[in-house]
Amino acid sequence: MSEFAKLHLIPSLQTVIQQAGYQSPTPIQAQAIPHLLEGHDLLGIAQTGTGKTAAFVLPILNRIGGDPRRLRPGEASVLILTPTRELAAQIGTSIEMFGKPLQLKHAVVFGGVGQFLQTKIMSKGVHILVATPGRLLDLINQGHIRLSNLRIFVLDEADRMLDMGFIHDVRRIIALLPASRQTMLFSATMPTEVEVLTREILKDPVRIEVTPQSTTVEKVVQKVLFVTKENKRALLKKLLEADDIRRALVFTRTKHGADRVTEHLERNAIRAAAIHGDKSQNAREKSLDMFRRGEVRILVATDLAARGIDVADVSHVINFDMPNEPESYVHRIGRTARAGRGGNAISFCDATESPALRDIERIIRQKIPVDRDHDFHCDITATTASERAPVPQKQNVSRPPEHMSGKPRRHGAGTRPPEVRPRVQRQRNRRPPAAGS
Ligand code: AMP
Repeated sequence: MSEFAKLHLIPSLQTVIQQAGYQSPTPIQAQAIPHLLEGHDLLGIAQTGTGKTAAFVLPILNRIGGDPRRLRPGEASVLILTPTRELAAQIGTSIEMFGKPLQLKHAVVFGGVGQFLQTKIMSKGVHILVATPGRLLDLINQGHIRLSNLRIFVLDEADRMLDMGFIHDVRRIIALLPASRQTMLFSATMPTEVEVLTREILKDPVRIEVTPQSTTVEKVVQKVLFVTKENKRALLKKLLEADDIRRALVFTRTKHGADRVTEHLERNAIRAAAIHGDKSQNAREKSLDMFRRGEVRILVATDLAARGIDVADVSHVINFDMPNEPESYVHRIGRTARAGRGGNAISFCDATESPALRDIERIIRQKIPVDRDHDFHCDITATTASERAPVPQKQNVSRPPEHMSGKPRRHGAGTRPPEVRPRVQRQRNRRPPAAGS
């Protein structure tokens, strides 16, 4: 009996899970699916890369597939609310892949594209609706979508919703939901506002927390290059010309920075594409496709735009700017060394960024070797990492959430997220009679 078989999902789902190359459930799947099949509410403290999408998509398909209701114009049985278009599209892909044998209708609704096709599909009603908050509210206000008969509500990446300023839209949407429903809330972190929201919208939820466990990232060869801010672009160009960089993701801190780096590379005959939040949906997808197909070998991205992007065979991650949050470093370098291959992470660090480097080394519990052997090396001494306080040494470091195990992939899936340690407990929360206002 496979590990998934123990979860009592219907046979047609078992088959597609197998076809997707998933051999055993990730901790959040193993812990959440049985409770969700029983109809409990759930608070999942987990980030992208832990397998959380399948943790909610599979039980939803199981429940709705086993008891599909007649579709009514503008209605959905399930709403999955997610902050970004990329995440929405990815969840849609997952529903399509796992839901194939069940013949359930779903729609993915987000802004930045015309609404005609979205309203057309909603005009007949769908079983599952995946949406970003702004466009969903637009379509509700225009009378194309009604949520009064919703059975299941998923709020994905609640903390990110907060960061992106969507929380008021989210609250407006929640106020439109029927009080009697199953609710799942996922968040990587639990800021107070999310905590408050969970108390308002979840009823006696199961709480599952998965934290990336310390595992070795020995396959990612990391190094840091000290360089002045002004020389970073020249250094990047030099690296890309000289090194055997097959396919690289270059991270900048800002959207403007991403554009400037891309233009600089293009001017120097190095083909590159950019992906960030100011680009239209079409432009983002085009860049991503070109990168996936290998038409450009360099994709320049901001952290936010790169969230949830799953591209195989990235040989190098280059941190053109050090990330503000040390956790982002772990996310970024997790884009390489996937599927059992080796990978490289090269970080450019100027004098102002040495505190960020120190923070990163503290959380990964490793010193990142400094490579001085390049034309633009500059000693960023006074505040620098060469005077860095010793960091606790440890063989194992926090493994990037998207780190892969080398399983075969299908539809961008099948890659095993990291081992994570789940904590499950019942949390008694009260839901006010009028849900979520
Ligand atoms: P997520 O956290 O949902 O974004 O998932 C991260 C990656 O893990 C995606 O590429 C999924 O296809 C993959 N994945 C999720 N669950 C499993 C599993 N049980 N076995 C193998 N890969 C999985």
